[in-house]
Amino acid sequence: MTPPPRQFILAMEGVTKTFDGFRAINGLNFYMDEGELRVIIGPNGAGKSTMLDLITGRTRPDAGKVEFGRDTDLTRLNEYEIARLGIGRKFQTPSVYIDHTVEENIWLSIEGRRGVWACLFSRLRPSDRDRIHEVLETIGLTDRAASKAGALSHGQKQWLEIGMLLAQNPRLLLVDEPAAGMTDDETVRTGELLLSLAGRHSIVVIEHDMVFVRQIARTVTVLHQGSILCEGTVDQVQNDERVMEVYLGRKKKGQSTAP
Ligand code: ADP
Ligand code: MG
Repeated sequence: MTPPPRQFILAMEGVTKTFDGFRAINGLNFYMDEGELRVIIGPNGAGKSTMLDLITGRTRPDAGKVEFGRDTDLTRLNEYEIARLGIGRKFQTPSVYIDHTVEENIWLSIEGRRGVWACLFSRLRPSDRDRIHEVLETIGLTDRAASKAGALSHGQKQWLEIGMLLAQNPRLLLVDEPAAGMTDDETVRTGELLLSLAGRHSIVVIEHDMVFVRQIARTVTVLHQGSILCEGTVDQVQNDERVMEVYLGRKKKGQSTAP
């Protein structure tokens, strides 16, 4: 008997995106399993952020397939429809409501579609209260629930924004360079947070910091000039000749510090 076809949470096939004649994404094939935490690395300009834009509908591909779950063709949907399917994205710079408390920020993101005003003048439902507490617990900000978001450290703001995405219970979470600008301690805690979310959510993390990548990565995908250069464990990709060449600009035998 032939086994059933493998079920991916995300499948990108033959995807191409050109900006003014420049191929930012070039025949990209990318597959991810449900519940997987996948790390994507690659030099500046490799097309990492564009890849996320193609998943969220911010950018349309010129060619190729972008499929979510069993049979949802994301290229036919707009950004709003894609977000509603349960695909959440965290950009590099945190965007939280700095004049609202941490707790209110989570609440606003649960209720987001009703608008800020409707939300502030309505009562908190018990089910929302439980959900808010659960999210605060997950992101480690329970003791800051009543603080203004503007008073949080950079790292804490990043966790709050991850919490705001979690409040919407996404199936797929896309996180662009979460450790940028964080202290070493915050970086480690971010890694622990993402690891705790894997399994319950499928997560794509784009990251430069190789210490962080080593902490969280099971499978690393290396993107270069808009397609996949190689895929494997951290050790496999760090020892791959092609990866060393891309990061160092030349071949270096016997050195395993790249990227
Ligand atoms: P990375 O995130 O890996 O650093 P990007 O995906 O941001 O790379 O960019 C890949 C390439 O595509 C870069 O050369 C960038 O200048 C170009 N690019 C990305 N978005 C646009 C856009 N909206 N218009 C024109 N060029 C773009
Ligand atoms: Mg980028």
